[in-house]
Amino acid sequence: MTVRLRVAPSPTGDPHVGTAYVSLFDLAFVRQQGGQFVLRVEDTDRARFRADSEQQIYDTLRWLGLDWDEGPDKGGPFAPYRQSERLDTYLPVATRLIEEGHAYLCWCTPERLTEMREAQQKAKQPTGYDRLCLGKTQEERAKLPGFSDRPVIRMLIPADVPLTFTDLIRGEVHAPRPDDQVILKADGFPTYHLAVVVDDHLMGITHVVRGEEWISSTPKHTLLYDWLGWDRPAFAHMPLLRNVDKSKISKRKNPAARLSWFVEEGYLPEALRNFLALMGYSMPDGREIFTFEEMVESFDWSRVNAVGPVFDLDKLGWLNGHYIRALPVEELAERVVAYMGVTGEKAELVRRATALVQERMAVLREAREMLLFLVEDDFGVEPEAAAKFLGAEQRPTVQAARDALAELQRWETVGIETALRASLVEGLGLKPKHAFGPVRVAVTGRTVSPPLFESIELLGKDKTLERLDLALAR
Ligand code: GLU
Repeated sequence: MTVRLRVAPSPTGDPHVGTAYVSLFDLAFVRQQGGQFVLRVEDTDRARFRADSEQQIYDTLRWLGLDWDEGPDKGGPFAPYRQSERLDTYLPVATRLIEEGHAYLCWCTPERLTEMREAQQKAKQPTGYDRLCLGKTQEERAKLPGFSDRPVIRMLIPADVPLTFTDLIRGEVHAPRPDDQVILKADGFPTYHLAVVVDDHLMGITHVVRGEEWISSTPKHTLLYDWLGWDRPAFAHMPLLRNVDKSKISKRKNPAARLSWFVEEGYLPEALRNFLALMGYSMPDGREIFTFEEMVESFDWSRVNAVGPVFDLDKLGWLNGHYIRALPVEELAERVVAYMGVTGEKAELVRRATALVQERMAVLREAREMLLFLVEDDFGVEPEAAAKFLGAEQRPTVQAARDALAELQRWETVGIETALRASLVEGLGLKPKHAFGPVRVAVTGRTVSPPLFESIELLGKDKTLERLDLALAR
């Protein structure tokens, strides 16, 4: 059997980190087994649809190196891969289910359903559709209150619905009894439950990997497979990623729920891949640092943990720092250049400066902050740094530094250091911190910067003197 796995994100906003997480595990298995990985866009929820979201899904997954074999942008033997383009597919299946007695039309208005639910809650009854429409013709139903002439289609969940299924990660799983789920909405769009089953079947999906939050939906899906006489795929429900307080990671509460946040912050894709893998996978030797290829080699569903891992950003920072330091400096330089979006001479300066910051950063954003002074004249002196280091009291220090540097003939690190030490430490009798702090803030704008004398060399004489003058003019 050729394995075929899919990730099925809904384009409802910034891609969620869970989409990458599931894709990573999908791909680990697919690459190990030599199968195919499908990207399917589940865009049937028109109320939450966002037009730019699909492109963001492509961009962020590709950035992370999680590429697919078939998808809306690539085509493939089961195209189209966007559910909104497959609407013709779902209605015949829903109609067949009605004909075979597994589904029924429901004409209840949303208002009636809300009232029903509120009454059930008040009476402390379990909530669920009360089957008012079941067994009625449209005419019969129209005589009762809360009628809409645009019906939905509901599954008729039997009393003996099987609630147990086998999960590749969790073994036997028991799910709660489902309600008479709507499978086709009044707008003619299928709900997730119908579309996912029909598409997974038609696209030959062999393994459904998705978040733990879908466990309660799985009995509805297995029922549909059984009614339609289709083979069930295997199911694997990944543990939910959790905040440090154990709550589910949501975009409202945690910026790291947005996949683009990692790009913006300057995490390395290979570090994030390792981190996401670590969130659900243990290597046979317990190693925490491993490549995707190593994960692929050892991959086994029994090594995936069922318990919700805590999304610990300190750990990710540590991992990212490790990957940054492990990169050859030339390669890191190219990443910093790309992250900063600089070209030409500016890019050259950043390349030369990268070695100075490689040990001092956990994310590329920090390199940008430290190197901005080299490429931006309008780099902005941090107000607190200025208050502390560029006051009236420090003017003589800045002036002496300016005079010493102005006289220098050969502009290189050792000479710069010697000149500044002679004039500030020996000349003015200052401790190094008091001597170099003001110079650092005047030249780089910050109290944390790459090594000072190297920075001054890279910045060049004209710019350095200009910045010391600016500090004196404050
Ligand atoms: N569209 C669903 C989601 O956004 C897919 C769930 C599944 O993989 O079955 O999570």
